[in-house]
Amino acid sequence: MKYKRILLKLSGEALMGDKQFGIDNARLDDYATQIKDLHDAGVEVAIVVGGGNIFRGVQAEDGGMDRTQGDYMGMLATMINSMALQAALEKQGVYTRLQSAIEMKEIAEPFIKRRAVRHLEKGRVVIFGAGTGNPYFTTDSAAALRAIEMEADVILKGTRVDGIYTSDPEKDPDAVKFGSLTFDEAYNKGLNVMDMTAFTLCKENDVPIIVFDMNKIGNLMKVVTGEKIGTLVTV
Ligand code: UDP
Repeated sequence: MKYKRILLKLSGEALMGDKQFGIDNARLDDYATQIKDLHDAGVEVAIVVGGGNIFRGVQAEDGGMDRTQGDYMGMLATMINSMALQAALEKQGVYTRLQSAIEMKEIAEPFIKRRAVRHLEKGRVVIFGAGTGNPYFTTDSAAALRAIEMEADVILKGTRVDGIYTSDPEKDPDAVKFGSLTFDEAYNKGLNVMDMTAFTLCKENDVPIIVFDMNKIGNLMKVVTGEKIGTLVTV
Protein backbone atom coordinates (compact mmCIF):
# COMPACT_ATOMS: atom_id res chain seq x y z
CA MET A 1 0.00 0.00 0.00
CA LYS A 2 1.29 3.41 -0.89
CA TYR A 3 -0.86 5.17 1.70
CA LYS A 4 -1.37 3.90 5.24
CA ARG A 5 -3.86 6.46 6.53
CA ILE A 6 -6.25 8.21 4.17
CA LEU A 7 -8.93 10.86 4.39
CA LEU A 8 -11.68 10.13 1.90
CA LYS A 9 -13.91 13.03 0.91
CA LEU A 10 -17.26 12.14 -0.61
CA SER A 11 -19.57 14.87 -1.82
CA GLY A 12 -23.23 14.71 -0.96
CA GLU A 13 -24.03 14.73 -4.65
CA ALA A 14 -21.98 11.57 -5.14
CA LEU A 15 -24.38 9.76 -2.81
CA MET A 16 -27.34 10.75 -4.98
CA GLY A 17 -26.34 8.38 -7.76
CA ASP A 18 -28.75 9.01 -10.62
CA LYS A 19 -31.40 10.45 -8.35
CA GLN A 20 -32.23 14.16 -8.18
CA PHE A 21 -32.19 14.40 -4.40
CA GLY A 22 -31.32 12.38 -1.33
CA ILE A 23 -29.45 9.11 -1.12
CA ASP A 24 -29.22 6.27 -3.62
CA ASN A 25 -28.89 3.06 -1.58
CA ALA A 26 -27.16 1.11 -4.35
CA ARG A 27 -24.51 3.82 -4.66
CA LEU A 28 -24.08 3.88 -0.91
CA ASP A 29 -23.56 0.11 -0.84
CA ASP A 30 -21.00 0.34 -3.67
CA TYR A 31 -19.05 2.91 -1.70
CA ALA A 32 -19.28 0.86 1.48
CA THR A 33 -17.94 -2.21 -0.34
CA GLN A 34 -14.97 -0.27 -1.67
CA ILE A 35 -14.24 1.19 1.76
CA LYS A 36 -14.52 -2.26 3.35
CA ASP A 37 -11.93 -3.65 0.92
CA LEU A 38 -9.47 -0.96 1.97
CA HIS A 39 -10.22 -1.47 5.62
CA ASP A 40 -9.73 -5.24 5.28
CA ALA A 41 -6.36 -4.57 3.66
CA GLY A 42 -5.28 -2.72 6.80
CA VAL A 43 -5.57 0.85 5.56
CA GLU A 44 -6.70 3.38 8.17
CA VAL A 45 -9.72 5.16 6.77
CA ALA A 46 -11.24 8.47 7.85
CA ILE A 47 -14.14 9.93 5.89
CA VAL A 48 -15.75 13.34 5.48
CA VAL A 49 -19.12 13.40 3.74
CA GLY A 50 -20.76 16.46 2.17
CA GLY A 51 -24.40 17.45 2.30
CA GLY A 52 -25.14 19.02 -1.06
CA ASN A 53 -27.63 16.29 -2.00
CA ILE A 54 -29.87 17.51 0.82
CA PHE A 55 -29.10 21.13 1.63
CA ARG A 56 -26.52 23.83 0.94
CA GLY A 57 -26.27 27.03 2.94
CA VAL A 58 -26.39 29.23 -0.16
CA GLN A 59 -29.87 27.87 -0.94
CA ALA A 60 -31.12 29.47 2.26
CA GLU A 61 -30.29 32.94 0.98
CA ASP A 62 -32.46 32.35 -2.10
CA GLY A 63 -35.41 31.91 0.22
CA GLY A 64 -34.54 35.05 2.18
CA MET A 65 -33.20 33.02 5.08
CA ASP A 66 -30.15 33.96 7.05
CA ARG A 67 -26.98 32.37 5.59
CA THR A 68 -25.75 31.17 8.96
CA GLN A 69 -29.02 29.35 9.61
CA GLY A 70 -28.71 27.73 6.19
CA ASP A 71 -25.15 26.66 6.83
CA TYR A 72 -26.12 24.92 10.05
CA MET A 73 -28.90 23.18 8.11
CA GLY A 74 -26.22 22.09 5.60
CA MET A 75 -24.10 20.72 8.43
CA LEU A 76 -27.07 18.72 9.68
CA ALA A 77 -27.48 17.38 6.14
CA THR A 78 -23.93 16.02 6.32
CA MET A 79 -24.91 14.17 9.50
CA ILE A 80 -27.79 12.46 7.69
CA ASN A 81 -25.39 11.31 4.97
CA SER A 82 -22.77 10.28 7.53
CA MET A 83 -25.30 8.16 9.39
CA ALA A 84 -26.41 6.51 6.16
CA LEU A 85 -22.81 5.69 5.27
CA GLN A 86 -22.16 4.42 8.78
CA ALA A 87 -25.17 2.10 8.51
CA ALA A 88 -24.05 0.85 5.09
CA LEU A 89 -20.58 0.06 6.44
CA GLU A 90 -21.91 -1.67 9.53
CA LYS A 91 -24.20 -3.77 7.37
CA GLN A 92 -21.00 -5.12 5.82
CA GLY A 93 -19.41 -5.82 9.19
CA VAL A 94 -17.06 -2.84 9.32
CA TYR A 95 -16.57 -1.25 12.74
CA THR A 96 -17.17 2.47 12.54
CA ARG A 97 -17.33 5.55 14.72
CA LEU A 98 -19.15 8.73 13.82
CA GLN A 99 -17.81 11.96 15.30
CA SER A 100 -19.72 15.19 14.96
CA ALA A 101 -18.36 18.73 14.98
CA ILE A 102 -21.69 19.81 16.50
CA GLU A 103 -22.58 18.00 19.66
CA MET A 104 -25.40 15.47 19.26
CA LYS A 105 -24.52 12.91 21.83
CA GLU A 106 -27.40 10.52 21.20
CA ILE A 107 -26.17 9.70 17.70
CA ALA A 108 -22.47 10.56 17.50
CA GLU A 109 -19.38 11.10 19.56
CA PRO A 110 -18.19 14.69 19.77
CA PHE A 111 -15.10 15.35 17.65
CA ILE A 112 -12.08 14.62 19.82
CA LYS A 113 -8.84 14.45 17.91
CA ARG A 114 -6.99 12.01 20.14
CA ARG A 115 -9.96 9.71 20.28
CA ALA A 116 -10.36 9.76 16.51
CA VAL A 117 -6.69 8.84 16.08
CA ARG A 118 -7.12 5.99 18.55
CA HIS A 119 -10.13 4.67 16.61
CA LEU A 120 -8.07 4.68 13.43
CA GLU A 121 -5.22 2.85 15.14
CA LYS A 122 -7.70 0.23 16.32
CA GLY A 123 -8.94 -0.31 12.79
CA ARG A 124 -12.24 1.50 13.02
CA VAL A 125 -13.43 3.58 10.11
CA VAL A 126 -14.00 7.10 11.44
CA ILE A 127 -16.62 9.31 9.81
CA PHE A 128 -16.48 13.03 10.57
CA GLY A 129 -19.92 14.66 10.37
CA ALA A 130 -21.18 18.25 10.58
CA GLY A 131 -18.26 19.65 8.60
CA THR A 132 -16.04 21.98 10.62
CA GLY A 133 -18.94 22.95 12.87
CA ASN A 134 -18.74 26.52 11.57
CA PRO A 135 -20.84 28.39 9.04
CA TYR A 136 -19.16 29.85 5.93
CA PHE A 137 -17.04 26.73 5.53
CA THR A 138 -17.51 23.70 3.33
CA THR A 139 -16.96 20.01 3.79
CA ASP A 140 -13.89 20.31 1.54
CA SER A 141 -12.41 22.52 4.24
CA ALA A 142 -13.51 20.01 6.86
CA ALA A 143 -11.74 17.29 4.88
CA ALA A 144 -8.53 19.35 4.73
CA LEU A 145 -8.70 20.20 8.42
CA ARG A 146 -9.37 16.64 9.58
CA ALA A 147 -6.69 15.25 7.24
CA ILE A 148 -4.14 17.56 8.84
CA GLU A 149 -5.30 16.75 12.35
CA MET A 150 -5.24 13.00 11.68
CA GLU A 151 -1.89 13.32 9.91
CA ALA A 152 -3.38 11.49 6.96
CA ASP A 153 -1.00 10.67 4.11
CA VAL A 154 -3.39 11.93 1.46
CA ILE A 155 -6.86 13.31 0.77
CA LEU A 156 -8.76 11.24 -1.75
CA LYS A 157 -11.51 13.23 -3.37
CA GLY A 158 -13.96 10.80 -4.87
CA THR A 159 -16.00 12.40 -7.64
CA ARG A 160 -17.83 11.27 -10.75
CA VAL A 161 -15.07 12.71 -12.97
CA ASP A 162 -11.80 10.80 -13.21
CA GLY A 163 -9.46 13.68 -12.42
CA ILE A 164 -8.70 17.34 -13.03
CA TYR A 165 -9.09 18.56 -16.62
CA THR A 166 -8.08 21.67 -18.52
CA SER A 167 -11.82 22.46 -18.67
CA ASP A 168 -15.06 20.73 -17.67
CA PRO A 169 -14.97 17.36 -19.50
CA GLU A 170 -18.74 17.01 -19.19
CA LYS A 171 -19.10 20.15 -21.35
CA ASP A 172 -15.91 20.38 -23.42
CA PRO A 173 -14.93 17.39 -25.62
CA ASP A 174 -11.39 18.81 -26.02
CA ALA A 175 -10.71 18.84 -22.29
CA VAL A 176 -7.42 17.15 -21.35
CA LYS A 177 -6.74 15.40 -18.06
CA PHE A 178 -3.72 16.17 -15.86
CA GLY A 179 -1.85 13.19 -14.39
CA SER A 180 -0.27 15.32 -11.72
CA LEU A 181 0.02 18.98 -10.84
CA THR A 182 1.53 21.17 -8.16
CA PHE A 183 -0.70 23.38 -6.02
CA ASP A 184 0.83 26.44 -7.68
CA GLU A 185 0.17 25.12 -11.19
CA ALA A 186 -3.43 24.35 -10.28
CA TYR A 187 -3.83 27.83 -8.82
CA ASN A 188 -2.19 29.63 -11.74
CA LYS A 189 -4.31 27.73 -14.26
CA GLY A 190 -7.45 28.55 -12.26
CA LEU A 191 -8.33 24.87 -11.86
CA ASN A 192 -11.00 23.92 -9.41
CA VAL A 193 -9.54 21.23 -7.13
CA MET A 194 -11.21 22.14 -3.85
CA ASP A 195 -12.46 25.46 -2.56
CA MET A 196 -9.73 28.00 -1.78
CA THR A 197 -9.77 27.54 2.00
CA ALA A 198 -9.32 23.78 1.67
CA PHE A 199 -6.78 24.18 -1.12
CA THR A 200 -4.65 26.58 0.94
CA LEU A 201 -4.81 24.40 4.05
CA CYS A 202 -3.57 21.43 2.05
CA LYS A 203 -0.83 23.39 0.34
CA GLU A 204 0.49 24.98 3.52
CA ASN A 205 0.48 21.68 5.40
CA ASP A 206 1.80 19.59 2.54
CA VAL A 207 -1.17 17.25 2.24
CA PRO A 208 -1.43 15.80 -1.28
CA ILE A 209 -4.85 15.50 -2.90
CA ILE A 210 -5.92 12.89 -5.43
CA VAL A 211 -9.08 13.56 -7.43
CA PHE A 212 -10.45 10.34 -8.92
CA ASP A 213 -13.61 8.60 -10.11
CA MET A 214 -15.05 6.79 -7.12
CA ASN A 215 -17.97 5.43 -9.12
CA LYS A 216 -15.80 2.89 -10.88
CA ILE A 217 -15.68 -0.01 -8.48
CA GLY A 218 -12.12 -0.91 -7.52
CA ASN A 219 -10.73 2.57 -8.17
CA LEU A 220 -10.42 3.44 -4.51
CA MET A 221 -8.15 0.45 -3.91
CA LYS A 222 -6.11 1.26 -7.02
CA VAL A 223 -5.48 4.81 -5.84
CA VAL A 224 -4.34 3.63 -2.42
CA THR A 225 -1.98 1.04 -3.85
CA GLY A 226 -0.35 3.81 -5.86
CA GLU A 227 -1.74 3.09 -9.31
CA LYS A 228 -1.69 6.24 -11.39
CA ILE A 229 -5.32 7.00 -11.90
CA GLY A 230 -7.01 10.34 -11.34
CA THR A 231 -4.98 13.50 -10.79
CA LEU A 232 -2.43 13.97 -8.02
CA VAL A 233 -1.89 17.47 -6.60
CA THR A 234 1.26 18.00 -4.55
CA VAL A 235 3.37 20.85 -3.21
N1 UDP B 1 -21.30 23.60 5.86
C1 UDP B 1 -20.87 24.58 6.72
N2 UDP B 1 -19.68 24.42 7.40
C2 UDP B 1 -18.88 23.34 7.21
C3 UDP B 1 -19.30 22.34 6.30
C4 UDP B 1 -20.51 22.49 5.64
O1 UDP B 1 -21.55 25.59 6.92
O2 UDP B 1 -17.82 23.24 7.86
C5 UDP B 1 -22.63 23.72 5.21
C6 UDP B 1 -22.64 24.63 4.00
O3 UDP B 1 -23.86 25.33 4.00
C7 UDP B 1 -22.60 23.64 2.84
C8 UDP B 1 -23.41 22.49 3.38
O4 UDP B 1 -23.06 22.43 4.77
O5 UDP B 1 -23.20 24.19 1.70
C9 UDP B 1 -23.14 21.14 2.72
O6 UDP B 1 -21.75 20.91 2.59
P1 UDP B 1 -20.99 20.95 1.16
O7 UDP B 1 -21.63 21.97 0.29
O8 UDP B 1 -19.55 21.08 1.44
O9 UDP B 1 -21.33 19.50 0.63
P2 UDP B 1 -20.88 18.79 -0.76
O10 UDP B 1 -20.74 19.87 -1.81
O11 UDP B 1 -19.58 18.11 -0.51
O12 UDP B 1 -21.98 17.82 -1.02
